[in-house]
Amino acid sequence: MRPGPTFSFEFFPPKTSAGERALWESIRRAESLSPDFVSVTYGAGGSSRDRTVEVTRRIADETTLRPVAHLTAVGHSVAELRAIVGRYADAGIRDVLALRGDPPGDPRGTWTPHPQGLTYAYELVELVRSLGDFTIGVAAFPERHPRSADWDTEIRHFVAKCRAGADYAITQMFFHVEDYLRLRDRVAAADCDTPIIPEIMPATDVRQIRRFAELSGAAFPEELAHRLEAARHRPADGHRIGVEYATEMATRLLAEGAPGLHYITLNRSTAALEIHHNVLSSRSVHA
Ligand code: FAD
Repeated sequence: MRPGPTFSFEFFPPKTSAGERALWESIRRAESLSPDFVSVTYGAGGSSRDRTVEVTRRIADETTLRPVAHLTAVGHSVAELRAIVGRYADAGIRDVLALRGDPPGDPRGTWTPHPQGLTYAYELVELVRSLGDFTIGVAAFPERHPRSADWDTEIRHFVAKCRAGADYAITQMFFHVEDYLRLRDRVAAADCDTPIIPEIMPATDVRQIRRFAELSGAAFPEELAHRLEAARHRPADGHRIGVEYATEMATRLLAEGAPGLHYITLNRSTAALEIHHNVLSSRSVHA
């Protein structure tokens, strides 16, 4: 990867052929900016998982992009996880984001590992590490993982995951820069220097973002919610408000030394590309 802050985009495997077209248009637009990598999320189950593998493989084969494959332990035996990682390796993919995943159906439900599977992400990190020369990312939580009892526990488990062999982490979405800075300081105080890349979610549609925020446990700023709500019937205004908020966050995160920015695209790269363009412009003005 290039020196200096990285930038990258996240996509998900679409369900329909219209979704497939939107994804590839978005990927091609992202490609024109030469990001450091792009990642593809792993579905909760069934056919979306095969689509993750297929989209990731096509990115490796048909574009100049470096794909990062998300992988979760949900519903997989260790033998299946080995086989998936093997498929990635055969396709020349050497980047895995190793995740525990959530219970299918209800993310807050009881977590039950597969009987021949893994219980925590650090075990998946160890497994992928044992299977070859991979660059491995893990998840980080600026507002603490919803299942962690307290911050000490959260940081202890995060650091264990890094020490198991993670090269970097990407955060859950968040909307207050201070949450990221506090997490980073806590991790540093535990003698862990794994780079933590903040994830940037363009909040342009208040309903959609509230739903995501609820699922992920991220606190959505009320003031931003009010402004987006007021612009509900003026989508262009909602778009502008969300892009401005994310631009401000992203610019500040880089000024505070964040090692990169990972943009959620929802397979429509417009907002993410605009934010990135704004961030680059403001950095060149202040350089
Ligand atoms: P873990 O690190 O295993 O942590 C889960 C919980 O277990 C935490 O509370 C942790 O403190 C605790 N814990 C960890 N180790 C131990 C231990 N040794 N003993 C006791 N408790 C322990 N989900 C998907 O399904 N598909 C995706 O593609 C996807 N992509 C994501 C990308 C990013 C950047 C992020 C931040 C999350 C993503 N997720 C995805 C969601 C993720 O799978 C869930 O948030 C999941 O609940 C936590 O995964 P983890 O890898 O952090 O798990």
